Amino acid sequence: MSARETVAVVGAGLAAAHAVEALRASGYDGHLVLYGAEPHHPYERPPLSKGYLLGNDERDAAFPHPAAWYDERDVDLRLTTTVTALDLDRHEVLTGDHRQRFDRLLLCTGAMPRRLAMADRSGAPVAYLRTLEDCERLRDALRPGTRLVIVGAGWIGLEVAAAARAADCTVTVVETLDLPLLRVLGPEVAQVFAALHRAHGVDLRLATGVGGIVRDGELADVHLTDGSTLLADLVLVAVGAAPGTALAEAAGLDVDDGVVVDARLRTSNPDVLAAGDVARAFHPLLGRHLRVEHWDNAIGQGAVAGRNLGGADDEYDRLPYFFTDQYDLGMEYVGAVGPEGYDEVVLRGDVPGRVFTAFWLREGRVLAGMHVNDWDAIDPVRAIVARGAPDVARLRDESVPLTDLTG
Ligand SMILES: Cc1cc2nc3c(=O)[nH]c(=O)nc-3n(C[C@H](O)[C@H](O)[C@H](O)COP(=O)(O)OP(=O)(O)OC[C@H]3O[C@@H](n4cnc5c(N)ncnc54)[C@H](O)[C@@H]3O)c2cc1C
Repeated sequence: MSARETVAVVGAGLAAAHAVEALRASGYDGHLVLYGAEPHHPYERPPLSKGYLLGNDERDAAFPHPAAWYDERDVDLRLTTTVTALDLDRHEVLTGDHRQRFDRLLLCTGAMPRRLAMADRSGAPVAYLRTLEDCERLRDALRPGTRLVIVGAGWIGLEVAAAARAADCTVTVVETLDLPLLRVLGPEVAQVFAALHRAHGVDLRLATGVGGIVRDGELADVHLTDGSTLLADLVLVAVGAAPGTALAEAAGLDVDDGVVVDARLRTSNPDVLAAGDVARAFHPLLGRHLRVEHWDNAIGQGAVAGRNLGGADDEYDRLPYFFTDQYDLGMEYVGAVGPEGYDEVVLRGDVPGRVFTAFWLREGRVLAGMHVNDWDAIDPVRAIVARGAPDVARLRDESVPLTDLTG
């Protein structure tokens, strides 16, 4: 590869950091330019709803690499720089009036919180959580007695609820579904999270929507669809994230709830790849496209994209994995249930005591598995999910150790 070549990476998040690392490790010594709209080097977001929000971790701990790491790899880092358009015919990245030619391009533009228009219009104190600055503003607001209303009982909403309870806030979570995390976990396991939050004093308003948000001086009146009203010092909107596909769409790339890529993370343009939260990748083991908004996926896809930009031809075939920490509950989950759903959940261990494993099956095939506070279980859980079709009778039989089901 000639030193005159340019690889451009758009979006300086976690996927980009790992792409840069893998690309340089592959021997690529050409120009490598990395654009990031934020003023920071790539950082990890999980601490923003956990350790850093709680005040347990330092800010620096969120950065996988210090600034010098990028200099050592001769990365032409353009922070606080938003890419405004892509000209794929001319192989150019546009930042306002400036144009940068590229040979190959990687899109790692991530995702952004879905907005709630009624909250944005209200003029009431409303927050979202995606960036370090969002986290720091939220952390400042979480004082003893703060009345926090969280709209949405997904991962971020629940993790913030746990952090806010640790800070002695009064926390109400409003969720339209019957249980928190219902779509991901199903009722059998979702009820564990409902019980956990109730045990820690969170007021869960389930099967209830937000009908309106009205500014009330410095406060917010949150009107619920059940006719009740909550008074809040702050409303956190945590209703999911949307992939950052605007550039790709405007450039004419295939976009369908994410930038559509093959298993090698190539978009509909052979010189353009995409990785991380923004990519809807074909998964060779699952046999379908899926977009995964998780830390492990950003790391793994970033690395594969970096290698492929450097001349490799690797597929990304790691099973989806994610984790959460809420109060004293730690959880890891592997696999994906998929659009057809599951027909059986196998639970092993002490579910009310919150030390257990769970497996989601369809027609005798394991689609996904998780453990709660059973840290040694993650390797066998992963192996069982990868194997797909174990002896289900033995999986249901708790006297058979998980490690006996992996082979
Ligand atoms: C609060 C929070 C907690 C989380 N906790 C967990 C967890 O516990 N476990 C887990 O598995 N996952 C968690 N995640 C998800 C995980 O952080 C993401 O999957 C991961 O950050 C995705 O990395 P990425 O590089 O694809 O995108 P991002 O991290 O979103 O990075 C994309 C970057 O691209 C920039 N960008 C976008 N458009 C442009 C443009 N036009 N020009 C220049 N730059 C641009 C953005 O500003 C951003 O900095 C959490 C996410 C959040 C927000």
